[in-house]
Amino acid sequence: MKYKRFIDQETLARRVGELGETLSKDYEGKNPLLVGILRGAYIFMADLSRSMSIRHTVDFMAVSSYGASTTTSGVVRILKDLDTPLFQRHVIIIEDIVDSGLTLKYIFRLLSARLPASLKVCALLDKEIAHPGEQLVDYVGFEVPNRYIIGYGLDFDQQYRNLPYIAHFENIDV
Ligand code: 5GP
Repeated sequence: MKYKRFIDQETLARRVGELGETLSKDYEGKNPLLVGILRGAYIFMADLSRSMSIRHTVDFMAVSSYGASTTTSGVVRILKDLDTPLFQRHVIIIEDIVDSGLTLKYIFRLLSARLPASLKVCALLDKEIAHPGEQLVDYVGFEVPNRYIIGYGLDFDQQYRNLPYIAHFENIDV
């Protein structure tokens, strides 16, 4: 399938570095826990964590929405839960992309119930047009168009995660 690169490696690195600096300022002295949502966020999480200059810890959660289509059903299955207790921790959810926002809302509710000291969201990509008027993300890398996106951790049928840039297919609109 034909795809087109639209955020290159240098631009990604620069923006992830900026996010890391911002988080380092905002969470100075708070030893935040970064919660990466697998699998899509694994590359972003690795780069973001390395761009942070403050003490922090990481953990991962694996979720999947039911079905294998390119749109979300809103029903989320927890495939792997966190190993770290969240009680009184400053927690930042690290997402690859927010589309309808249903996955994120589900995860946010689930983690809020564990009574963290604070809970915020950092997403590399946000398809704002897919959830108009809703502010779901506290820290965002890039706003992206409503296309099916691959690369830098994001897959199509488990492929393309290794592309070092962000691309979209020419013929799939979601
Ligand atoms: P939402 O629940 O916000 O509609 O979808 C969120 C999840 O669906 C993301 O974490 C990601 O796993 C997947 N997703 C949504 N849009 C895209 C996309 O354009 N490309 C890829 N590869 N995954 C997407």
